[in-house]
Amino acid sequence: MSVVLHVTGRVLAGPDDVRDELWVVDGRVTYDRPSAARDVRTVTGWALPGLVDAHCHVGLDAHGAVDEATSEKQALTDRDAGTLLIRDAGSPADTRWIDDRDDLPKIIRAGRHIARTRRYIRNYAHEIEPADLVAYVGREARRGDGWVKLVGDWLDRGTGDLGACWPRAEVEAAIAEAHRLGARVTAHCFAEESLADLVEAGIDCVEHATGLTEDTIPLFAERGVAIVPTLVNIATFPKLADGGEAKFPRWADHMRRLHARRYDTVRAAYDAGIPVFVGTDAGGSLAHGLVAAEVAELVRAGIPPLQALSATTWGARAWLGRPALEEGAPADLVVYDEDPRADVRVLAAPRRVVLRGRVID
Ligand SMILES: [Zn+2]
Repeated sequence: MSVVLHVTGRVLAGPDDVRDELWVVDGRVTYDRPSAARDVRTVTGWALPGLVDAHCHVGLDAHGAVDEATSEKQALTDRDAGTLLIRDAGSPADTRWIDDRDDLPKIIRAGRHIARTRRYIRNYAHEIEPADLVAYVGREARRGDGWVKLVGDWLDRGTGDLGACWPRAEVEAAIAEAHRLGARVTAHCFAEESLADLVEAGIDCVEHATGLTEDTIPLFAERGVAIVPTLVNIATFPKLADGGEAKFPRWADHMRRLHARRYDTVRAAYDAGIPVFVGTDAGGSLAHGLVAAEVAELVRAGIPPLQALSATTWGARAWLGRPALEEGAPADLVVYDEDPRADVRVLAAPRRVVLRGRVID
């Protein structure tokens, strides 16, 4: 006999769709009261779809791949923060075993990062040259869950500044290969330089995107290329700049300038109609469970609270092809004490997390 869950209060089923109650039967959402009420448990509050962290790394820490116990702890931390759907933006660890665990968030993988030789954090990426890009993108497209992750720019030790990693022709062929295999492509980009080429080459999303300017913002908007700003990560730029100042002063200066205009950049992107999504970049040097902090950062940048919420709930789920709180959807939801639309800081303290219909106690 299965327990029925009755969620009462305010169910935020969509940005303009607020209901009084929701039921969970056999792990799925329904708005029809079950006929023969079985064992019923009631949860009351403001319910949102399980939050999405669209840039997170499970199975990774500052030094590279981690073991299963550490990966599990990362996933549990995200879950308890209300993150029930993760787009993993690159991991060298095989985390497929998580798919069999009912108590852990769902993960949409991008395989392993693909970077230019010696142009990324050690132990993270396949480090290759442009001639091999199509082959590696094909391989990671087959390994992942519909996404491939490129490192689009990084410190170039030759120039001492951020520099684009891939020639236009090779990256265009690689993106075409991913699309042929049914995968979307995203790229890590801090600086201005690589953005126009990547968009012209057909990229689907850019991570961080701190280098967007009035030249590239209209291009992104026109093509519908999404961005995941990861402002909680961008906050670390000044510290990174201080650390690299002695060896790479131009790079350090560039990082500080990108940081200084980060909120204006995100706001301008949003105003132009570029889809913006919540991502924390947890798992490299950042802690897991920062989803509420990132939503608050997007609001600080000037995105209206309801849209910032959508960037981690309804909108993000639609973008990733996953349901929110539609009839029949898996019951992944988070319940809060107060209305998160009135103040997104409410997200920092979930009252109840419900994963696949089970209340996490
Ligand atoms: Zn990342």
